[in-house]
Amino acid sequence: MTQPDVASTHRDGHARSLYAATMHAAPDRPALVGHQHVDVCVVGAGFTGISSALHLAEQGFRVAVLEAQRVGFGASGRNGGQIVNSYSRDMDMIEARFGQASARALGDMAFEGNRIIRERIEQYAIQCDLKNGNLFAACNDKQLAALKHHKALWEKYGHQELELLEGDAYRREIGSARYTGALLDHSGGHLHPLNLVLGQAAALEALGGVIFEHSPMTRLEHGERVKIHTAGGVIEAERAVMAGNAYLGDIVPELADRSMPCGTQVIATEVLDEATAKRILPTDRAVEDSNYLLDYYRLSSERRLIYGGGVTYGGRDPASIEGAIRPKLLKTFPELEKVAIDYAWSGNFLLTLNRLPQFGRLNHNVYYAQGYSGHGVTASHLAGRLVGEIIKGESARFDAFADIRHLPFPGGRRFAVPFSAMGAWYYALRDRLGV
Ligand SMILES: Cc1cc2nc3c(=O)[nH]c(=O)nc-3n(C[C@H](O)[C@H](O)[C@H](O)COP(=O)(O)OP(=O)(O)OC[C@H]3O[C@@H](n4cnc5c(N)ncnc54)[C@H](O)[C@@H]3O)c2cc1C
Repeated sequence: MTQPDVASTHRDGHARSLYAATMHAAPDRPALVGHQHVDVCVVGAGFTGISSALHLAEQGFRVAVLEAQRVGFGASGRNGGQIVNSYSRDMDMIEARFGQASARALGDMAFEGNRIIRERIEQYAIQCDLKNGNLFAACNDKQLAALKHHKALWEKYGHQELELLEGDAYRREIGSARYTGALLDHSGGHLHPLNLVLGQAAALEALGGVIFEHSPMTRLEHGERVKIHTAGGVIEAERAVMAGNAYLGDIVPELADRSMPCGTQVIATEVLDEATAKRILPTDRAVEDSNYLLDYYRLSSERRLIYGGGVTYGGRDPASIEGAIRPKLLKTFPELEKVAIDYAWSGNFLLTLNRLPQFGRLNHNVYYAQGYSGHGVTASHLAGRLVGEIIKGESARFDAFADIRHLPFPGGRRFAVPFSAMGAWYYALRDRLGV
């Protein structure tokens, strides 16, 4: 079971991250007390839950959200803030494994999550430091060839905003000698993720949605009307949505079976002077490299370098986050050797075996969406729209995902951790050897 991440929390209930230190004021919402009736109850107030609830409230449903801790407590409030299009697996794998029809359906939606985020920001005037453009950097020629292939694939699915930077051309974007090229997605970007989820939560409440914080679901009771129990009360609803992702633990065993929580760690430097920031990231884009165990980084709005990387299987933290991530940062930007690290935090994302999102039904009136496998900023916003559609009675697009078969991790979660750690070791070795 995932360890509740409370030991590392801030006074106001968030991880000790740069984002918690720079979040907009948010109300401390009360815990659920007593019995409530709504149309839809959503469990989890990250991007998936809040975005689902907001789509539903916009359609006139009476919605309540139950959050175990605070809005944005999970991955949504702690991630790299990178708006990366599409999924954690490429379209050719989807074509090969699930056929043309699935690939076409998923491909048609691969760039929609990004558009939804931008619509939300505009429609609800959400202040979350949105910047445009993200890069996929190649650490060797093989990765550069893969990026060329990736560009062709996305273009096949209608995405024409990619620019391949071969040779030293990437140096206009990234002040590091580490790469052999990069692929720039002009339509990607980066933002302050906690402020994005808080802004959407405020929009939900303005539409009449209700959010209960400090209210973990303790039991899910199936029936014609679903009952979601917490320590202090019960919500009875026509439908329910499970959006607890990596923090859900094993309270819904059907969901725990086919996914595994993984930790990833992030550090943020002191504020950099303008000249240094301009040297390392002259165009202020987000970057992720193409390694299996990838590094991801960007500047914050106050010119701190936010640098993430590493994966710990089972969601446990390394002994020192700074000790684990700082060497990666210095490998990319040796000139930052003397820079101070002001923040270090970690968070859990949810991995699936095929690295595609897991959407489906536990019952005729209980839905779930989870398992974006490390690339969830855009996919979780797409999930919200699809949950809104299926609850309205339009199931085709949700079912395009629900039809994807997900296999359990060999040996279940407990035994999958050593297997995946071995897999990670193997891939880390491949990354190092550049094969
Ligand atoms: C450190 C880090 C960096 C990342 N960087 C990126 C990135 O740059 N770009 C990208 O695309 N993706 C990134 N990801 C992945 C992305 O953040 C996630 O895929 C996405 O935020 C998942 O959103 P979610 O709402 O499904 O889950 P979460 O945000 O984890 O939300 C789940 C919520 O459910 C609540 N909950 C759990 N159980 C219960 C219960 N029983 N009752 C009530 N509430 C419950 C939790 O408290 C939590 O608030 C990153 C992830 C991490 C951890």
